[in-house]
Amino acid sequence: MDKVIGIDLGTFNSCVAVMEGGAPVVIANRGGYKVTPSMVAVTEAGKRLVGHIAKRQAVTNAENTVYAAKRLIGRKFDSPQVKNAIATCPYRIVEGPHGDVRVKLRDKVYSIPEISAMVLQEMKLIAEEYLGTDVRKAVVTVPAYFNDGQRQATKDAGAIAGLDVIRIINEPTAAALAYGFGKQMDRTVAVYDLGGGTFDISILEISSQGVFRVVSTAGDTFLGGEDFDQRIIDWLIQGFREEHGIDLRSDRMALQRLKDAAEKAKCELSSVVETEINLPFIISSNRNQALHLQRVLTRAQLEALTADLVDRTIRICEITLEEAGLDKRDIEDVILVGGMTRMPLVQAAVAKCFEREPCKGVHPDEVVALGAAIQGAALVDERQDMVLLDVTPHTLGIMVVGGYFEELIPQNSTVPTSRSKIFTTVRDNQTAVKILVLQGESHRAEENDLLGEFVLTGLRRAPAGQVEIEVTFEIDANGIVSVHAKDLETGKEQSITVTATSGLTQEEIASMVEDARQHAVARRADEQTEKARQEAETLLAQIEKLFPDVEKVVGASEFGRDALDKARAVVSRARSVLERGDGTALAEHVEALQRTHRMFRGVVGRG
Ligand code: AMP
Repeated sequence: MDKVIGIDLGTFNSCVAVMEGGAPVVIANRGGYKVTPSMVAVTEAGKRLVGHIAKRQAVTNAENTVYAAKRLIGRKFDSPQVKNAIATCPYRIVEGPHGDVRVKLRDKVYSIPEISAMVLQEMKLIAEEYLGTDVRKAVVTVPAYFNDGQRQATKDAGAIAGLDVIRIINEPTAAALAYGFGKQMDRTVAVYDLGGGTFDISILEISSQGVFRVVSTAGDTFLGGEDFDQRIIDWLIQGFREEHGIDLRSDRMALQRLKDAAEKAKCELSSVVETEINLPFIISSNRNQALHLQRVLTRAQLEALTADLVDRTIRICEITLEEAGLDKRDIEDVILVGGMTRMPLVQAAVAKCFEREPCKGVHPDEVVALGAAIQGAALVDERQDMVLLDVTPHTLGIMVVGGYFEELIPQNSTVPTSRSKIFTTVRDNQTAVKILVLQGESHRAEENDLLGEFVLTGLRRAPAGQVEIEVTFEIDANGIVSVHAKDLETGKEQSITVTATSGLTQEEIASMVEDARQHAVARRADEQTEKARQEAETLLAQIEKLFPDVEKVVGASEFGRDALDKARAVVSRARSVLERGDGTALAEHVEALQRTHRMFRGVVGRG
């Protein structure tokens, strides 16, 4: 049976897990880390870097290093969130051909799914190295509050990475799966998930029969650790301006250093009550004098700077409970997910809100990937009797006359689901209707997200109100929407799978898949060359060290001198190939060097 990996594609860090021997395990990357930064960079030489290696060079290559792409995925270029990202990100965000968002690294423009695909490809590779086999299938997690466009775009990213994303599941739901896995219990739990870029809250009922039912979910896709970092950055910038009259925002490199220092200070303040932020030579003064930034930040100050952000998450929790018709006391356990839940203020606020200490038994960075792996295994293995009943986070509907929003599937409906409603024409002899598919909670259509539109033509000519059109909305288990409309008299139908906000056409995706595949092949070749280079260097050093001893043992005989000449030729040819950097040829020379090395060791051993 194919192994299915579970990937938590995080805003700042990603994590991959797989089921082994009936239990989910997180797979560490080559560096031994269980989480990999969701960062992508392109170097001056045009090389792609992903993960820790991209993070390490971010300060010196800030313009060409993308982080937090998840905040941009599936969004429109003219949305307020993207405007905000343009103002704060050191990398270049540009408009795509479909009003979508793209980033420019060096001289190439990339779509956001392409960037996320590079991270997914890295996670796939980590799993493949561990499992020793190709991996094709994956379950990928998204914030529960992701809308249709964001889910579609994540699925596109999976396809570009060469993965068959067999299911998209919500992060809090995945966390609950990992929490409830193997436990026989009936319990109502809340999952509070505050990560680097997004906040989600979900209420779930877990039954001892293995049914995980989401009761309610809510969140904010633009509220996370980065906002906390930004508050520290703003505080540092303001202090520096007051002291030196210089705005650090004008310097991209300084901004990147501030960002790193702010995040570091925030994390430290989860375990200590005071920390020093020290950035020597942050910028030069007008008189070309090097200026340093040095400030002490206390936990109390950090809490004062960010209290309103924590309050925002708590308000969302309270609304969610209310919508689910539940009281705080109905919640029997609170699961904390996401790196930000290590912040003492967050833990205290959650404990106060739910009137209980949160559960300590789950690892906030790993639990989502573990849940995704559990779901992946359940989807391909029929023996697993686990049922996941998730909900749609947003109301779905269409625009009707007067610009109003007519609801078809309400928020928090269990998915998959399908609902139909009959509409009629509004004008005499109307032969076509335009269906605008929207997602959101406002009764005004224009205030909701437009997912897509389509036209049903060829309607029978009749007085207004006489032609009946049945509109059906379907949401699949991934939370992805499709809609169709049918003229009930003629049976004529039109349908769409909503893809508008992903911003990529099928042709574009196909070309990106090919591009990503070629990169994977090139990367593998690069790695092989590097391995051969290292091996050749080691063998050359060992052979050269053995030369004097071998000469002593066999140099006197003609046969021995001949063998030594041949060995010298092997060494010299290998050296020149190494200097040329010819990766393909190197592999053959490594074999010749291995033979020579074996022969030398034999001679010296005999001598
Ligand atoms: P995630 O998206 O779940 O990987 O969470 C990443 C976020 O958690 C980032 O904003 C990190 O700065 C933050 N984070 C990680 N460790 C800590 C910590 N010890 N204290 C506070 N925040 C943290």
